[in-house]
Amino acid sequence: MSGHEKRFIDEAFAEDWVVPLGPNVDGFEKDLEAYMGGDVEIAALSAGTAAIHLGLVLLGVGPGDEVMCQSFTFSASANPVVYQGATPVFVDSEPETWNMDPRLLDKAIADRMDKTGRKPKAIIVVDLYGMPARLDEIEAVARKWDIPLLEDAAEALGSEYKGRKCGTFGRFGALSFNGNKMITTSGGGALVCHTPEQKRRAVFYATQAREPFPYYQHEHIGYNYRLSNISAGIGRGQMMVLGEHLAHHRRLAGLYAELFKDVEGIEYHGNPSDDFDSNFWLSTILIDPSKTGGLTPEALRQHFAAMGIETRPLWKPMHSQPVFEACPAYVNGVSGHLFARGLCLPSGPWVSEEDARAIAAEVCLCCGKH
Ligand SMILES: *Cc1c(COP(=O)(O)O)cnc(C)c1O
Repeated sequence: MSGHEKRFIDEAFAEDWVVPLGPNVDGFEKDLEAYMGGDVEIAALSAGTAAIHLGLVLLGVGPGDEVMCQSFTFSASANPVVYQGATPVFVDSEPETWNMDPRLLDKAIADRMDKTGRKPKAIIVVDLYGMPARLDEIEAVARKWDIPLLEDAAEALGSEYKGRKCGTFGRFGALSFNGNKMITTSGGGALVCHTPEQKRRAVFYATQAREPFPYYQHEHIGYNYRLSNISAGIGRGQMMVLGEHLAHHRRLAGLYAELFKDVEGIEYHGNPSDDFDSNFWLSTILIDPSKTGGLTPEALRQHFAAMGIETRPLWKPMHSQPVFEACPAYVNGVSGHLFARGLCLPSGPWVSEEDARAIAAEVCLCCGKH
């Protein structure tokens, strides 16, 4: 918390706006719309997962449908597909951004059409760890097959691809303000829309799909997904320090990249080219045990844990999760390799440059390098 949040919460209490609508919800949406640029319309919601779910509802995803989904991600990208009674079809990553491989996506869609005779209903691409996917190429595949794209930018607030903000690509984008994300409302999310009508429908479904009658009239199944006016107050305060947060994460990333630059067997996951401008939500490395004297990511994780320093494995791909065992998957080995070799390094607001230097030095020491 920056200290700015309290003022907006106090205002909400003073005016008795302790409900899932009010001036903070409107204000937070305006702040986000201005920040994301372009002609976006933002619907503030109770979670990023709710944003993905509503995106799928608005795209008409239903029972029996298939949805192409990036395999290398957090389960919340895929779970809403199942909420709708549809089946996720997982697509593996390419090695540069670690996100959905556009060519594999193209082949996978062709194969689904062959096997089921039906077109997948949507595509979910993710900007994992804040790194933008190859969004031009993914959009081109989506256009070629005329399948709507949903961009899961839950981890990528502030990231840009070719100068355009992540979350604004495709038909809908999803943002998250969960406690661990780039900014937080304690829990919260947003659906990035491109027309006032899309936003109107998102808010309609997020508020129990109540029709405009004096009594409660319902013609659709709705959800209770709107963001509370208190949480939105935290969000307005957080928007005032988003720039600082981003600068911090990018500074740490630059430092880690520099410190690991010449270390054999340690590969820092940086922007593949100037087209990509990650927010570096998390700084991540790959470890090649054949070049680090046998040091594995798990051994390093345990070493740091014993020092009271938390590191984590990368996301375990969805196609190898027991719960998604029965789902079709198009696998090229990339995300499996990343899961086996990767580690997330401390990257949050309380990690100082000194900490980053000490962590990098410890990694080097562990693999016998100085
Ligand atoms: C956090 C996250 C979500 C879900 O957001 P919540 O606000 O926690 O519901 C979805 N996708 C990805 C990739 C995430 O990291």
